[in-house]
Amino acid sequence: VVTVRDLHKSFGSNAVLRGIDLEVTPGEVVCVIGPSGSGKSTLLRCVNQLESATSGTVTVLGAEITDPDINIDVVRQHVGMVFQQFNLFTHQTVLENCTVAQRKVLKRSKKKATEVALENLARVGLADRGDSHPTQLSGGQQQRVAIARALSMNPSLMLFDEPTSALDPELVGDVLTVMRDLAEQGMTMIVVTHEMAFAREVADRVVFMDGGVVVESGPPEQVIGAPREARTRAFLDRVL
Ligand code: ATP
Ligand code: MG
Repeated sequence: VVTVRDLHKSFGSNAVLRGIDLEVTPGEVVCVIGPSGSGKSTLLRCVNQLESATSGTVTVLGAEITDPDINIDVVRQHVGMVFQQFNLFTHQTVLENCTVAQRKVLKRSKKKATEVALENLARVGLADRGDSHPTQLSGGQQQRVAIARALSMNPSLMLFDEPTSALDPELVGDVLTVMRDLAEQGMTMIVVTHEMAFAREVADRVVFMDGGVVVESGPPEQVIGAPREARTRAFLDRVL
C-alpha cells in the first residue's frame, strides 16, 4: 500500500528525514514512535504529499507521489488523515462535516452521502449526534467525528498523527477503541502515537524513529518488549 525508499526531507539546512525506508502491506497496522522532533509527522505528511520530499520516492496505492506529474488529489481521495487537532468545520453540523467531501469529491448524491455518513458515525458510536455542532461535543467525540468523516470517503489507507494527544485522559480510551476496531476490520493504518499500550496491542509492526532515521522496526513484542538498540531502550525508559 505504501513504499518509502530512501526518503530525505530538509527544511532549509535542517535535515529532518535522513533516508527513511518503509513498507506497509495491505491490512497492516504500523505504529510510528519516537521522541519529539524525530520527524514522525514529517514522514506522515510526506506520505500524503502535504510535504514534498527533498529526495527519495514515496509510492502510495500504486502511484509514485514523488513524481511531479502525478495527480495527487486522486491519490488523496483514497487516503484518510486524522490529526491531533480535529480540524472539523465548526460552522457545520456533524453530518455536514461527514458529507461535504463525499458530495464534492466523490460526487455522491445527498441521500447516498448521508447514508454513508450515518453508517460511519454509527461505527464510532455517534449515530445520534449528526445534528450537533462540533462545539457541542467533547474532544473525544470530535475526534471520533473526524475519523467518521475520513472513513466516509472509503479510504484504502488511514494515517493518524497523534490522534489522542490533545485529549483529556478520560477521553482517550473511546478514540483508541474506535481505532482498534478499525484495525480489526482490516484497515491499513499508519499511526504516529505515544500510546505504547495501544502500539503493543494493535500494531503489526512498530517503527522507532530518532533523528530522522528508522532506528528499529519490527513486531511490538520485539521493538517495545525487547528492543535491540540502545536508543530505543532509552526512549522507552522515558515514556513507559
Ligand atoms: P512531535 O512528537 O513533537 O510531534 P515529530 O517527530 O512529529 O515531533 P516533526 O514534526 O516531523 O517531528 O518535526 C521534525 C523537525 O522538523 C522539527 O525540528 C521541526 O522543527 C521541523 N519542521 C517540521 N515541519 C516544519 C516546517 N513546515 N518548516 C520548518 N521546519 C519544520
Ligand atoms: Mg508530530
